[in-house]
Amino acid sequence: MDLLRWPVVGPFLRWRHARTSLQLVLLAAAVVIVLHGLVGPDLASTNLATVLTWVHYRGLLVVALLAAGNLFCLGCPLVRVRDWGRQLHMPRRAWPARLRGKWIGVALFAAVLLTYELFDLWALPAATAWLVLGYFAAAVVVDLTFRGASFCQYVCPVGQFNFVASTVSPLELRMRDANTCRTCRTADCVSGRKAPAGDTALRPRVVQRGCELGLFMPAKVGNLDCTFCLDCVQACPHDNIALASRVPGAELADDRRRSGIGRLVDRVDLAALVVVFSFGALLNAFLMVAPAQALQGWMEHDWGLSRASVLALLFGAGLVVLPFGLLGAAAFSTRALTGDGAPPGLVVRRFVMSLVPLATGVWAAHYGFHLLTGLLVVVPITQNAVLDLTGAPWLGWPFWRWTGLRPGSVFPLQAGLVLLGAFGSVAVVQATAERDYGARMWRAAAPWLMLTTLLAMTALWILFQPMQMRGMGP
Ligand code: SF4
Ligand code: SF4
Repeated sequence: MDLLRWPVVGPFLRWRHARTSLQLVLLAAAVVIVLHGLVGPDLASTNLATVLTWVHYRGLLVVALLAAGNLFCLGCPLVRVRDWGRQLHMPRRAWPARLRGKWIGVALFAAVLLTYELFDLWALPAATAWLVLGYFAAAVVVDLTFRGASFCQYVCPVGQFNFVASTVSPLELRMRDANTCRTCRTADCVSGRKAPAGDTALRPRVVQRGCELGLFMPAKVGNLDCTFCLDCVQACPHDNIALASRVPGAELADDRRRSGIGRLVDRVDLAALVVVFSFGALLNAFLMVAPAQALQGWMEHDWGLSRASVLALLFGAGLVVLPFGLLGAAAFSTRALTGDGAPPGLVVRRFVMSLVPLATGVWAAHYGFHLLTGLLVVVPITQNAVLDLTGAPWLGWPFWRWTGLRPGSVFPLQAGLVLLGAFGSVAVVQATAERDYGARMWRAAAPWLMLTTLLAMTALWILFQPMQMRGMGP
């Protein structure tokens, strides 16, 4: 199935200005978030900055990833602003070679999770607005200094989240016909389409950029590092790229060399990103429930620690110590059970990708909870904002009773998402063990299946706990 061939959807996606129109919609939302965050009410549950950012944006982002793919990178307004900036100043420098990789993105991803908890950002409209402004400023500074999509590829923590989660999306960009690519002489999908000869003098002018992330379509495998920008679709002179359906998550057990990425088992930074993505999902959900609040209170009062120290300890334990111990134990068990002499780090890198489906299920269960229980609250807040701004109820008096589903009614969906993710992780463990261990596959897989079960049970236990309400109606 190729979405680019569908009626209505296909022509829209292939339209030259499709991306720009999506970017303008999200840019308008960002402007609303910043303005209301800075001049609107201080109460988080009545401000569009906090509600749209922490309830709707995060929830819809995960829904889009699971339903289609990396749509929020496709419509990212930062890239729109950056492109306007590049009309004034085109950067010439390449991103420094020693900073290539995901380490900056991994560190910022963990920092965002910690900052969100430490400063209670969901409760601070003005801080949320400044965070959005800071994000725009960082993207513009990086991408007006370095060419290509340096910010997306190496810096943006949201982008890194999207790249990992999009490995379980049902769609991917891929070549339509291998023979056409084999005989292709231009590789415009990655280098960009040039103006016809004679149009310019010495250097051919690029009239349609190719893949800014360096993904060469014939060697592209899966969705990692793909922003779904569709530049390659516009650039390919042979109309040889499809937005095709696929088995979600199958790429996690695919160890072919990937364009722009290499082999997954060689990438320690990608393994670290998956660890933060996976254990961060559990930690982020855990910090919302009553036992976590009790634990933090106990550590603050009995140990005499500040809140920042307590969170630093919990993040260190949750994102470093615990993963190190659990993944190390599973790797040593696989070695012992199979007689495999591979270094433990290599065994971890073979299997760590299997955590992604379960972790995506946990993120979806967590963010889906906030989205569904606070879905309608945007209506009365918008009515109230118009009332504040104009002094007249042009959209009616605020329907403050509009919030969303009752929290209890969302639980079956949350549990279903976690279980679905766990089944996906089991399938990836099985495929990885079969690929690397052949007849010894079940011995190799056993520790990782136990780890998947342990993490899934932990996630279900967290879901059973009473959650704090954030960003809900008054
Ligand atoms: S995707 Fe298009 S531009 Fe890229 S190699 Fe294949 S035919 Fe050439
Ligand atoms: S140009 Fe690159 S990043 Fe954009 S959709 Fe194509 S492969 Fe993905």
